[in-house]
Amino acid sequence: MQMYISDIVKNMPEYVFSEFQKKKKDLEEKGVDVIDLGIGAPDLPTPEFIYDILVDEAKRPANHRYSNYNGTLEFRQAVADFYHKHYGVELDPETEVLTLVGSKEGIVHVIQAVINEGDTVLLPDPGYPVYKMGVHLAGGKSVAIPLVHENGYVPDYEKLADEERKDAKLLFLNYPSNPTAATIELETFEQAVEFARKNNIIAVNDSAYNLVTFDDYKAPSILQVEGAKDVAVELGSLSKSFNMTGWRIGFIVGNKDVIKAVATLKSNIDTSQFIPIQKAAAAALRSDLQAVRANNNVFASRMEKLYQSLNEIGLTCERPRGTIFIWAQVPAGFTSASYSNLLLEEAGIIVTPGTAFGSYGEGYVRFSLSVTEDRLDEVIRRLKDLRKPEAK
Ligand SMILES: *Cc1c(COP(=O)(O)O)cnc(C)c1O
Repeated sequence: MQMYISDIVKNMPEYVFSEFQKKKKDLEEKGVDVIDLGIGAPDLPTPEFIYDILVDEAKRPANHRYSNYNGTLEFRQAVADFYHKHYGVELDPETEVLTLVGSKEGIVHVIQAVINEGDTVLLPDPGYPVYKMGVHLAGGKSVAIPLVHENGYVPDYEKLADEERKDAKLLFLNYPSNPTAATIELETFEQAVEFARKNNIIAVNDSAYNLVTFDDYKAPSILQVEGAKDVAVELGSLSKSFNMTGWRIGFIVGNKDVIKAVATLKSNIDTSQFIPIQKAAAAALRSDLQAVRANNNVFASRMEKLYQSLNEIGLTCERPRGTIFIWAQVPAGFTSASYSNLLLEEAGIIVTPGTAFGSYGEGYVRFSLSVTEDRLDEVIRRLKDLRKPEAK
């Protein structure tokens, strides 16, 4: 039988992170004790008070039916209340909040809801690979906004060509940032909103790591910018903040017209998330965030250890104020790929080459903080052993 596969799928490279999982399996089958710092997800469990609600609510037959297409009003109200409490931002839960089945689908769907074939989307480079693939799926054109260390990994809109600015319909931002771990102050969002307004562009901030922050740093929301709702939306996720990656729950908030377009598109694709999951997630957002702080302390302590050691070893990196990543420069003489391969083959350590996030990631690798401190000690030992032959 002849098999038909669409060009759009045929032309999609494999999801970058699934490739690394294959390599890991091959090595483990050979008996190598692989330490995987390539995973972009927290390893800690979901806090107990959250899954207790899921268990209780799952027992009620009334919760077994379809949710509203837009998500339960209870969850959307909890999102609105969260924005009021944490950012001082007012949101109408009926029109300015939409439940997502994880923010990843929201990224893909917001692109399809906003752009036409051939339209330009401005993407952070390095950036989360789903943005680029989402543009590909919508038949759009990606234009990279280079994010470089000298600039603190914030966009320099002046560097865009006039046509790129004119043809653009959407701009993606992601702070706190994956993979660079960059954090910003509200000013960066003010500039983005101004740029979006001037050029008739919708700005999207992906805030997957909004609560994963260290010390006194508090990540701002793009909606805190005056008038942001005219031109901006924000994607939110419970995956990283509450260790709920497998639950598939997130939201999109902000501009009514964009939210409505995404809702219309999604109502023809999915029927929102399981009601007990939305109830548990609502409780998470309404909580005092004690559990989030406890997790952040775990990540902060891992970060401190790895950050200190990497710099000692010669892998230059900055001390992050958030996320579960360290973005480190590879030693002289290496590329992202050659250094990642060396770590994998000679030290059994998986990191993600910076180029997996775009060409401006060249020269960097991303370390994820998703293993225990004991394992990080082992990582540090292996990294030190690795450089000995060179030092002689
Ligand atoms: C993990 C991640 C997501 C996806 O989160 P889900 O809500 O689990 O789909 C989105 N954006 C970035 C930058 C991420 O790292």
